[in-house]
Amino acid sequence: MRKQVIAGNWKMNKVLNEAEQFVQTAKNEVPSEEQVESVVCAPYPFLHTLVKETEGTPLKVGAQNMHFEESGAFTGEVSPVMLKDLGVSYVVLGHSERRELFGETDQDVNKKVHAAFKHDLTPIVCVGETLEQRENNETMNHVESQVKNALDGLSDEQVKQVIIAYEPIWAIGTGKTSSAEDANEVCSHIRNVVRAFSSEEAAEAVRIQYGGSVKPANVDELLNQSDIDGALVGGASMEADSFLKLVEAGK
Ligand code: PGA
Repeated sequence: MRKQVIAGNWKMNKVLNEAEQFVQTAKNEVPSEEQVESVVCAPYPFLHTLVKETEGTPLKVGAQNMHFEESGAFTGEVSPVMLKDLGVSYVVLGHSERRELFGETDQDVNKKVHAAFKHDLTPIVCVGETLEQRENNETMNHVESQVKNALDGLSDEQVKQVIIAYEPIWAIGTGKTSSAEDANEVCSHIRNVVRAFSSEEAAEAVRIQYGGSVKPANVDELLNQSDIDGALVGGASMEADSFLKLVEAGK
């Protein structure tokens, strides 16, 4: 049985005080780590405070991006060494907003995935198709190539620890969710891709989240699918009450 992982992605929202209030409410209410993995992926300026405030609780903290280099002349960037030093546990990599708005390539994502493992951070690797790709029946090929490129060069042991987030771009922040069956079909394809290029064990172990307008009203149906092992959630992760309903569903 794969443990479900529910990750909130706050994107560029909240100020420090709001972030602190969220974790103060949520940190003692989330289920135990044995039942479900609960993560909030927060903007960089809040990470230090949130890690300190959640110490010893089942609520874990993630970043939303990082550079692949350890240090150097990269003005405005944040390195994996810095995240690890703060006590961050997870990092979202290759979110569609980073790919679309900031020009991140599959090769960048692959370098970041390797850097995450080097520094003991769990990568949440995002893949997903545009509406145009979906309408042209390119979804499966597109996510297949994104997954293969992102995980290129990882050992089987590393692949087992990766979290893949399947997020159809047309469903992000739009209120349109992929039907649970359609989402599962793509997640199942992703698992088969992992099976083919890595191993049976890695395919059975890798967690595949669905993301795109997940909310308390649709989370159960999505998490009940055979190949969906959690959710990456933007809008509905912003309020502690709603986030807590999502992690409950992951138990
Ligand atoms: P959403 O965002 O839940 O607001 O659709 C998901 C994401 O971008 O990770």
